[in-house]
Amino acid sequence: MRSAAELAREAGFVPAPAPQGREYTRADRPTISEYFLRLYCSATRSQRNPDRTEYIWLDEFCLADDQQPHNDETIAAQRSAELGRLADIFRGALQVVVFCHEEGCDHTKLECIWGQRLFTIAEILHAETVVRLTRRRQNNNMTAELFPTTGREFRLRMQHHAALANKWHLYAIFQHTVNAGAVPWQVAIHALVVEAIRRDEAGNFHDHKFLGTALNGLLPRRARLSDLGHSGWNDLAWLLELNQGFYNAASLAAVCSISVDNSVAWLGKPIDPAAGNERLEPVVTAFPVSSDADDPPLTIVAGETLGLRKHLKRDASGLYNNEELKGLKILSWWVAFVLVLISSALVGSGSRRSGGILYYVTAILYCIVELLAGTMYLEREGWVFLEDSLWGDKLEAKLGEQDHNLRTLTLWGSF
Ligand SMILES: [Zn+2]
Repeated sequence: MRSAAELAREAGFVPAPAPQGREYTRADRPTISEYFLRLYCSATRSQRNPDRTEYIWLDEFCLADDQQPHNDETIAAQRSAELGRLADIFRGALQVVVFCHEEGCDHTKLECIWGQRLFTIAEILHAETVVRLTRRRQNNNMTAELFPTTGREFRLRMQHHAALANKWHLYAIFQHTVNAGAVPWQVAIHALVVEAIRRDEAGNFHDHKFLGTALNGLLPRRARLSDLGHSGWNDLAWLLELNQGFYNAASLAAVCSISVDNSVAWLGKPIDPAAGNERLEPVVTAFPVSSDADDPPLTIVAGETLGLRKHLKRDASGLYNNEELKGLKILSWWVAFVLVLISSALVGSGSRRSGGILYYVTAILYCIVELLAGTMYLEREGWVFLEDSLWGDKLEAKLGEQDHNLRTLTLWGSF
């Protein structure tokens, strides 16, 4: 829509003031889309038989029957139901035309605004034939050219650009479609869900109204359209419940923060994907269970309670747990052993008092060495929670001051 609006703006179209929360009025949206339709027709004129019948599905004309005197609620319901069919519509299309208004863009790069929208995942994932519609400047006029290609080739190009930008979730999604055997459903579904949430957030759709509908038809099991439309988070929870045989939702719960609006407490914004995150394997099995309440619970099977410390702890066994203190450890043992022998000899020769004192001093000296070694190291076993506001981006430096072994940390998923 943004690209069509740009075409309309260039042609001098001035949209009417939009109602609150919308970019354009309902009457203006098809008018704006018509500018794209005209551009497509002008591009096909030279390359195809002009005397032909072509059936085109264009969202603004086909998502709802705007010609009927329906009220806004009816049209919103029609649009919502039709959005749940998008994957099937594009899977059944003879060809999918991809367009953005930027000059010379081939639409496979991550910067292209077409590829940043939530619904373009469903549009492209199963397309058989893709036609790139690209604008070019000719004699100071903007024209458009068609470049037909196979859906597989187009997705391979997008996969390539995803790899260059370290977008491994996006990479996994396209790898799953062009070489399905390489990526299991567990990874593919996780990547799809995280990417869909990420795109929604990037598009400032923080209520995630269409999250479930956008993914319907892309996962192995689909929801009936009548069961969707109960807020995006709940739709997604229902889809994940349906697909629990293919996807362990613990992967998603592990990378999601607590939701801001508490609509689904366990399913908030995911942390930014990083290289390796998409390959993490959950140690428990979890699945959401739909409920009439607003908050579908997450059921966890084979869970394990892990002790989580609030503070760092000195390693009382630092003398024995660190390889670099091996020499000091052996020296301490020998010195203690020799002193104990001397003490025993003193006791044996009748100087019980002197022998007893030497025993006592030996034990104290050994404890002092153990204690000093313990102050140099932190306990590195177990789990500890460190408040980000206190430790921040200087985590390594601050931890390194406490224990020089922690000066260089390895990020989870980067090894
Ligand atoms: Zn583009």
